[in-house]
Amino acid sequence: MTDPSATADVTDRPSGAAESVVPQRVREFLDSTETPCLVVDLAVVRRNHGALRSALPDARICYAVKANPAPEVVGALAALGASFDVASPGEIDLCLAQGAGPERISYGNTIKKRRDIAHAYERGVRLFVTDSEPDLVNIAEVAPGAQVFCRILVDNKGSRTPFGRKFGCPPETAVRLLRQARELGLDPYGVSFHIGSQQLDPAAWEHGISAARQVFEGLAGHGIALRMVNLGGGLPGSYTEAAPPLAEYARRIEQSLDRHFGADRPDLLVEPGRQIVADAGVLRSEVVLVTPSAADDRRWVYLDVGRYNGLAETEGEAITYRLRTSRDGDPCGPVVLAGPTCDGDDVIYQRNVYELPLTLRGGDWVDLLSAGAYTASYSSVCFNGIAPLATYCVDGDERA
Ligand SMILES: *Cc1c(COP(=O)(O)O)cnc(C)c1O
Repeated sequence: MTDPSATADVTDRPSGAAESVVPQRVREFLDSTETPCLVVDLAVVRRNHGALRSALPDARICYAVKANPAPEVVGALAALGASFDVASPGEIDLCLAQGAGPERISYGNTIKKRRDIAHAYERGVRLFVTDSEPDLVNIAEVAPGAQVFCRILVDNKGSRTPFGRKFGCPPETAVRLLRQARELGLDPYGVSFHIGSQQLDPAAWEHGISAARQVFEGLAGHGIALRMVNLGGGLPGSYTEAAPPLAEYARRIEQSLDRHFGADRPDLLVEPGRQIVADAGVLRSEVVLVTPSAADDRRWVYLDVGRYNGLAETEGEAITYRLRTSRDGDPCGPVVLAGPTCDGDDVIYQRNVYELPLTLRGGDWVDLLSAGAYTASYSSVCFNGIAPLATYCVDGDERA
């Protein structure tokens, strides 16, 4: 799958600097628990939510629950007044149980069964995404009168984990679907797009906002006034490859909104997943073995976490986590990093060359930083008899 000969150097090597990144209370907790596990600092979740609220003060924040569905995370955000982007009945029930009313829930998955829509509607959810006629017809039938927005397909260039073509329709189709929504008795509310997750180009939203404007104009021609633009997710976490500051994303998004909507500003939604939780999490793993390899001049370091119990986003080495180890400060050399299972694809990094301490051996720990998003929620249940990645939340000095 990955080409080991095409090596790239990871410039932000693990170093003592990472030490200061992990707060004392999280370090203490990590040292007291079994590996592998994810520790999420709720204080950082709140701080990230606050930072986004300051950066985009006009946008309603709908946390994308799939990034980290720990009930404590959802509860902390619900207490701050956040809204939620959900993908299934399970996520709806989770948000309701954590104190978010149904008026704060947006059903943001274009792929849903009729009975999933009915489940949402029965619980009071009135906001649904769509991008196809069969889904729209289902919504009209089992969620009569609901607000709908249409997801359009946008270029995901600049994203480290693009969506491909699975979701969204062309703007012309959005115009047709939202007209049909009106005919079916629904409330055509607006347009959404997702510019691709871990989007490193703050100018990427320009395409989506411009295409959204096209849909607004298309519908205005039919006497329908849309009112909402959903900016989706894509805001970054902190991995080895530096991302621009949040303020730069906000500035470029505001510029695009001014350019395409001027004084006619629609309601704004934003659906952060990664930006809220990535930097709040540290994943502690243990070194199982360190072996020299005959076919390669690099040592192989096998961790007790890999592709199937938390590191799904290392597929294709899309996400390159920053590391710290219990032997930081000792001389380092290049390694191939791999997971613990009997699957040949369970190699974490071979194209990206990480350098780890030469003294590293079985029983030592390796922390993956900014691992709060798309780790525990992507963990398999029991592949090779390995339990799903456990999540613990700490909150200041309290432990949940
Ligand atoms: C996953 C998802 C998000 C969150 O994306 P991030 O890049 O993590 O911010 C937002 N909206 C929708 C519809 C999603 O599926």
